[in-house]
Amino acid sequence: MRKLFWEDPYLKECVATVESVNGNEVRLSQSVFFAFSGGQESDSGAIGGIPVKEARKEGNDITYVLESAPAFSPGDEVEVKIDAEKRMRIMRLHSAAHIVWFIFEKKTGVKKLIGSNVTSEKSRIDYEFPESLAAILPEVEMEANELIPKGAEIKTYPDSANPEKRWWEMGGWKCPCGGTHLRDLKEIGTIKLKRKNLGKGKERIEITLA
Ligand SMILES: [Zn+2]
Repeated sequence: MRKLFWEDPYLKECVATVESVNGNEVRLSQSVFFAFSGGQESDSGAIGGIPVKEARKEGNDITYVLESAPAFSPGDEVEVKIDAEKRMRIMRLHSAAHIVWFIFEKKTGVKKLIGSNVTSEKSRIDYEFPESLAAILPEVEMEANELIPKGAEIKTYPDSANPEKRWWEMGGWKCPCGGTHLRDLKEIGTIKLKRKNLGKGKERIEITLA
């Protein structure tokens, strides 16, 4: 399946050829509809006018589970549409998580995440950290909110050896990521950070859009 959400994460719809139909489950030749992976939640939307209940990544393909069995068949062309507002919030919160991650590393030397998640409401990154982040978090938030409006190009691209593996890059910052991202840092807007304690030695940073 051609992953249009990687080629152009701002696309809201496309036409695809149906490759298979199995009850409510559908596979397509190409799609703008992202399926949950790498901690980023699935898009919402419809295929051929039928709402998608679940998008499931299976190997390098995606199976879309529709609310009801479709009338279309393999070989037919269908319209794939996503909730563009939701996707935009996911992209802002995912790109924001990367920025907070890198600023945090710069301040503390801690790079390794023990968890991460991105929804359209908030994103989070979790660390093993010996003390409360309460003292350092306002500085991280301030630095992020100073950096974001300056703007910078965010690049995402496939790995040269494995096109299903993707990279995220901004300035000198680079990391593996298969999510959907903004093209420019400044599109994130203002963010807010909140600390959560996850138990002994584990700290969470929650990111929301202001
Ligand atoms: Zn990512």
